[in-house]
Order: sequence, then structure tokens, then C-alpha cells
Amino acid sequence: MSPRMEHEAGPTSRRAAGLFASAALHHDGNGNALHAPVLVLNASYEPINVCAARRALVLVLKGVAMTEEENGHFLHAARIAMRVPSVIRLLEYRRIPHQSRALSRKNILLRDRNTCQYCATVLSSSELTLDHVIPRSRGGSSTWENLVACCHPCNRHKGNQFPGEAGMKLMREPRAFNLHTSRHIMRLMGRSDDKWRKYLFY
Ligand SMILES: [Zn+2]
Repeated sequence: MSPRMEHEAGPTSRRAAGLFASAALHHDGNGNALHAPVLVLNASYEPINVCAARRALVLVLKGVAMTEEENGHFLHAARIAMRVPSVIRLLEYRRIPHQSRALSRKNILLRDRNTCQYCATVLSSSELTLDHVIPRSRGGSSTWENLVACCHPCNRHKGNQFPGEAGMKLMREPRAFNLHTSRHIMRLMGRSDDKWRKYLFY
């Protein structure tokens, strides 16, 4: 999602977000449905992103996107029921910058597929931390190329050392999250979803 889109939090989206927050509180089943991944298509049907269902519903309610496919779940909130989308499409074409992802913990974990880059263990986001490959104390910066997903045991073992000094090796060289990475991840996610497949494999 482009930074511009992230900041388009108008009154509708705030209202919608409030609605979903209370929905998630009162209906057990809605919590997971709201976090389900939704494929985002550009107006041209080109796949550009994956977002959580909650975010997708906000975009649909704001009139920024329309639902192309539904995931079969309903969101029940107050007196309304909404079909939860599986694929949405933006109504206005957006130029996607070559590198469209903000540097964030969430995006680093997404790039590294929630896998510790030293021992290859796959963990939940809360069980992972970010490791500075070149430690900050030794001049390492917070960049795509110097941050990797890391489990706590590996992080403790590495401490303030370079990987080589700690006898550790990165699974692969960390790179910026670009459109190529996004497409690759979208395809991996889409393999198990019939509704996504037709937009991802052509
Ligand atoms: Zn590890």
C-alpha cells in the first residue's frame, strides 16, 4: 500500500474502524475473519498488495475499492452484516512506485516470511525480533539491507557481534522489499486460494 493510502484516514474510515473494533469484541468469529489476507488489485486488475480484511473493508466503505471476490464470511456489527472480501480492486488507477513498502517491523517479517534468518525456524510475529546484521553499536543502520527477522535465542547468541564472529550465517542476503518480492509473496499466498489464483497466474 502506498504511504498516501495509509494516511487517508477520513471520518468514514475512523467510523468503520470503530465499528470493526466493537464487532471484534462482541462476536468471537469476526476476529480472525478481519485479519484474513485480502488481495488488492489495481484498477487495471494488476495485483499490487495484500492487506488484512479489516483494511479492505475500510477501503470498500470509503469507496476507494470494490469487492471482486468474497471469502464467504460475514461481518456482523451492530445491525448490519457485510460480506468479507477476498479480493478487492481499486476504483482509481494508482501508479505503484518501484519500492512501495515502508520500512517497518511488520514488512521485514513479511519479507522474511516470519522465518528466523539464522536458524530457519518459522515463528509467529510475536515470537520474532529484528536483528541488526551489523550491530547498531558498531555502526549498523536500520535499513532493509541490515535488518532481518530473528528468533530470540539467535538474537541473544549473536549479541553485539557480526554474524561471522558469532559463528552464524544468514540464510540469504537481506534486500529491500520491492514489487518483485511482493509478487512472489502474493503468488505463494495465492497458491492455496482459488479466488486469488486467477488474478495472480496469467
Ligand atoms: Zn533463530
